Amino acid sequence: MTVWICRTCAVEQPDTVAPPGSCAVCSDDRQYVRPDGQRWTSMVELVAEGHRGSVAEVEPGLHGITVSPGVGIGQRSLLVRTPAGNLLWDPTGYVDDALEAAVRELGGVAAVASSHPHMFGAQVEWGRRFDAPVLVQDADRSWVQREDPCIQGWGESVEVLPGVTLHRIGGHFPGSAVAHLVGADGCNVLLTGDTVAGTPDEHWVSFMRSFPNQLPLSAAVVGRVADRVLALDFDRLHDNFGGRVLADAHTWVERSAERYIGWVRGDFDHLTEP
Ligand SMILES: [Zn+2]
Ligand SMILES: [Zn+2]
Repeated sequence: MTVWICRTCAVEQPDTVAPPGSCAVCSDDRQYVRPDGQRWTSMVELVAEGHRGSVAEVEPGLHGITVSPGVGIGQRSLLVRTPAGNLLWDPTGYVDDALEAAVRELGGVAAVASSHPHMFGAQVEWGRRFDAPVLVQDADRSWVQREDPCIQGWGESVEVLPGVTLHRIGGHFPGSAVAHLVGADGCNVLLTGDTVAGTPDEHWVSFMRSFPNQLPLSAAVVGRVADRVLALDFDRLHDNFGGRVLADAHTWVERSAERYIGWVRGDFDHLTEP
């Protein structure tokens, strides 16, 4: 049968003869269905179309994986390299033999995890190719469309590899998570997906219910998200689209949360009056 992949989000579906009627991820108010309707593809079709993956160093010990032309939401996955094996974070919705070989050259994949369901991508395909567990935060377990024995749940936090710990933060999804690690220079690094999203400024970050539909979170929720993130020790952060804060990230996340909360609470409404 065929493992169907949603054209819009690239999240894998069950192995069935016919594709599902709709994509649960894209039917949600955080995503969207394109004007021409729900469309499906498969990994075989994507390979035939000429998509290819590439790997590039983001910083020592951390590599980004991108697919061109883009597939689905088009995130940049991150490969965290450790002596005990590598974590594949926010897996792409595409993987072929050449991309698998490139990742094997960097030590392969010992575990797969994502910041939230929009980033599930081809997580089971990745997990199967590397015989690696796929970790899914318990609160978002119902968003898994393609079930597989390699999927494992986790709770509030889990040390997925020595020195690499996942933390549940919430906000964008109830199970939205970050990954905490120590960089090659000894500094603490946070991989935030879009639990905490970078901005073009490279200092400020943001927090959203929906990025494509531009739905904000409330002041109370962003306060809670900030409390959880700021309880962690980190010097820099990388999101899932190349957004980053390379210095004083803890301070900038705190400032960003205060700015955001001020706006959604109405502190600056006087600045918008016609
Ligand atoms: Zn979808
Ligand atoms: Zn998302």
